[in-house]
Amino acid sequence: MTSAESELDAFMKGLEKRNPGESEFQQAVREVAESLMPFVLEHPKYQKAQILERMTEPDRVIIFRVTWEDDDGNIRVNRAWRVQFNNSIGPYKGGMRFHPTVTLSVLKFLGFEQTFKNSLTGLPMGGAKGGANFNPKGKSDNEVMRFCQSLMIELHRHIGEDTDVPAGDIGVGGREISYLFGQYKRLANRFVGTLTGKGLSFGGSHGRTEATGYGCIYFCENMLNNIGDSVNGKTIAVSGSGNVAIYAAEKATQLGAKVVTLSDSSGFIHDPDGIDPEKLAFVKDLKEVQRGRIHQYIDRFPNATFHKDQRPWSVPVDIAVPCATQNEIDASDAATLLTNRVKVVSEGANMPTELAAAHQFLQGGVLFAPAKAANAGGVAVSGLEQSQNALRLSWSHEEVDLKLQNIMKEIHSKCVNYGKKADGSVNYVDGANIAGFVKVAESMVAYGAV
Ligand code: NDP
Repeated sequence: MTSAESELDAFMKGLEKRNPGESEFQQAVREVAESLMPFVLEHPKYQKAQILERMTEPDRVIIFRVTWEDDDGNIRVNRAWRVQFNNSIGPYKGGMRFHPTVTLSVLKFLGFEQTFKNSLTGLPMGGAKGGANFNPKGKSDNEVMRFCQSLMIELHRHIGEDTDVPAGDIGVGGREISYLFGQYKRLANRFVGTLTGKGLSFGGSHGRTEATGYGCIYFCENMLNNIGDSVNGKTIAVSGSGNVAIYAAEKATQLGAKVVTLSDSSGFIHDPDGIDPEKLAFVKDLKEVQRGRIHQYIDRFPNATFHKDQRPWSVPVDIAVPCATQNEIDASDAATLLTNRVKVVSEGANMPTELAAAHQFLQGGVLFAPAKAANAGGVAVSGLEQSQNALRLSWSHEEVDLKLQNIMKEIHSKCVNYGKKADGSVNYVDGANIAGFVKVAESMVAYGAV
């Protein structure tokens, strides 16, 4: 065992003891610590200041009850959290997730990751995440509104444009952000940019809806350009059919690729002819307006097939873009993708790849872009929304998109800078982890023991 391996082992044992049963959080920390431990050992100032120990302990966690009334007059109770992880380089920033699988462990993993991701964007944003074990599926608009309003009655005390700025995530889209912001504004009696992802008529930024998916494909393009190739002409499997998936598919198609899959939690559709802009417009309406299910795609486009309860990774493709949720690519999916000669895996979702699968991609020479780099475009444009709100002006779609492209290019350069190996290839996992870490760690060292 090398000294880095034994230090990692001891560090993880302590973390697991302090955070029992929090498997997602432990997994996210292990992935980062594997990259960082050798780097920290080479830089004793970080070890002396206990930066890794401090960065894996959230600044604070707020847990609260949300009581609301459903359409039948029944009183319903959910649990909500806000994990304010690290504000060393700016106000806390990170989305809110509404899904029955939300736990403290899930939100700690997301808040921890967010700290590194926000650092990579180059913008002054700390890391946070929040959410509730509330399931918006099957709820009426009025029920979702009452839930959001009740949640904000507690949350509003803990957030603010210079304190903590929430946004969307799974189950929290334009509708939910509007209800949350409307209630925040009423309680605070201030019209400020305390939430991002807002509607365009009340302080939202052009390009925010598209930013995560577009950014993820811009990152793919940067990785491929770096080896003299491009997205153009590639076949792509996208998972999910929510915000990130739809706009990743849109940008990939615009850049000349053929997207052949989309999915939701009930299965995936395979369209060998490619999901062209007309078909994607149908999916946008189906998911964003009708709130329907992806299997309805084959009723409209019968050349496609639906694969119930399966994930799309068995379809042979050049590029895989997981955009649904955590741990949706396991070791056996990775083996299948490798057998089918996948070239690129770019994570649109947060931690969609299990650790063993990520190791397989790295060993197999795949260009593997971790979420904290590949999906940072969403929070980056949220940061731009905050800037526009503070300046009380609005930039055009083209201006925002250009800034997004530049930010993704910069993130790619940082990953190359810290992740380039002796043989010239790039380990994007190490690159993203170390580049994200350095800025936060330097600030923490400068602050002293806080
Ligand atoms: P949405 O709620 O818009 O869409 C989520 C999609 O993933 C849906 O198709 C959903 O299917 C599917 N999904 C969710 N949970 C599961 C599950 N347990 N198993 C299988 N499929 C599932 O969310 P987003 O598109 O916003 O988020 C997707 C991912 O991207 C998340 O990991 C999120 O953290 C990450 N992300 C999002 C950002 C954003 O700007 N929105 C920014 C950065 C990262 P179903 O409808 O059946 O539940």
